[in-house]
Amino acid sequence: MTKYVFVTGGVVSGLGKGITASSIALLLKSRGYKVFMQKFDPYINVDPGTMNPIQHGEVFVTYDGCETDLDLGHYERFIDEELNFTSNITSGKIYKSVIDKERRGDYLGATVQMVPHITNEIKNKVYEAGITSGADIVITEIGGTVGDLESQSFIEALRQIQYEKGSENTFFVHCTLIPYIYGSNELKTKPTQNSVRDLRNMGIRPDALVCRAPFNTGEAIKKKLSLFCSVPVSNIIDSIDVKNIYEIPINYYDQKFDEIILKQFNLPIKKANIEYWKDLINTVNNLNDEVEIALVGKYVELHDAYISVSESLKHAGYKYNVKVNINWVDSEDLEDSKANLKEVFKNSKGILVPGGFGSRGIEGKIKAITYARENNIPFLGICLGMQLAVIEFARNVCKIEDASSTEFSPTCKNPIIDLMADQKSIVNMGGTLRLGNYECTLKKNTLAYNDYKEDKILERHRHRYEFNNKYKELLEKKGMVFSGINEKADLVEIIELPKHKHFIACQFHPEFKSRPTRPQPLFDSFVKASCGK
Ligand code: GLN
Repeated sequence: MTKYVFVTGGVVSGLGKGITASSIALLLKSRGYKVFMQKFDPYINVDPGTMNPIQHGEVFVTYDGCETDLDLGHYERFIDEELNFTSNITSGKIYKSVIDKERRGDYLGATVQMVPHITNEIKNKVYEAGITSGADIVITEIGGTVGDLESQSFIEALRQIQYEKGSENTFFVHCTLIPYIYGSNELKTKPTQNSVRDLRNMGIRPDALVCRAPFNTGEAIKKKLSLFCSVPVSNIIDSIDVKNIYEIPINYYDQKFDEIILKQFNLPIKKANIEYWKDLINTVNNLNDEVEIALVGKYVELHDAYISVSESLKHAGYKYNVKVNINWVDSEDLEDSKANLKEVFKNSKGILVPGGFGSRGIEGKIKAITYARENNIPFLGICLGMQLAVIEFARNVCKIEDASSTEFSPTCKNPIIDLMADQKSIVNMGGTLRLGNYECTLKKNTLAYNDYKEDKILERHRHRYEFNNKYKELLEKKGMVFSGINEKADLVEIIELPKHKHFIACQFHPEFKSRPTRPQPLFDSFVKASCGK
């Protein structure tokens, strides 16, 4: 029988519930159990695909093309399992599915209600994740904060699951804040008491508390929390701030968090295979070199908008024993005619232009690419970054001065980047990009082939526009190599400039496949080139 771990949060948002859920999953996996992860987001959007990154941070894409919350990126990086469409469920998805069923007449004349129709739909999503993944344990994180109007139907569904499956098959983790009051110099438990009371009012008694505090809470605080919240002292877990999020699983391991869960599930506590993760922490905490890499984007004030990219850079750094420091460059700042690129990039040993949408900041990114190309600075372009690298090359090397993309210049005469025919008729913006895994065939004796050492690769996509093959021959003549192609649809996937020290760009998003213990090949070679190794 599948077991279920639910992770809720209280008092404030941003406590790191996603990292907590991921860490628990990692530990359970390390004990030999098959795990699967899932997140419920209480907002009405069907998925975050249409949201501004400033609101929501990065959109993470699964191999099967689901646009999801950035927490799924943490999940995949921690548990090293590919997640899918069953892994991110929003209120919007639930409501849409229930309303579609109602319109089809599936409810046979019933009055469609929050309970049981919406809650059944939610419960089915939890059970579906267990069945389709074949996991021993499904870990489900509930976004938002307990007590929010939005998340109540999810909490009610979980209460029903607890009742249906029993406490030997369900485990509730509640993450909460223990604030420190300066002056009286003490940690305060009252917000947690109140938050647990909210949860209990909805019929759920947490099995464990994860206390986010500036330092370990200690016996007295734990006893108090235990008394007021009806949680055994042994199940109150400290979660103090750490330098690096990858340390958290080890903190939990030391507090036997996984053993507490497995005991409640009546599952054997097998030997933990955790040494590889301890080695990782050891590497991360003892990096002996540093390198600065510039990330040129338009949402740089919110680092979460590029979280998978920045994590991927760090992962590659771990391999070469270097700490990657990111120089966050706002592309719009480069557009000013007085912008001094030499000054902006003076310490940067590599330049990365990530994905993006719309016309704002485009010309600044193109300037950064010119700077990287002309000064032989290692360059990695991702998605929009590839499209702009091609436009830059067309304009400045092939002298097609008005080269552009129909995304930001719909009537341009030289659309080097254009919509594919099948995208032209699309009216709905949500979920209609080219999404998820597509195959790419690599050309021998190229940087790309050298990075992957494989003929065919699968990488995840999220874009609407493509390189326009009409310009291929011309660009090739001038020295651009098209080293990765999707043969089925004849689409350009990777470009590179062999005359340059390291200049490569891809139409897909390599950042979604990087792992802390296994950097993604394009990031690997880019960071390697940037630190001169
Ligand atoms: N805006 C571009 C497109 O839709 C690139 C998208 C991206 O960078 N993810 O094709």
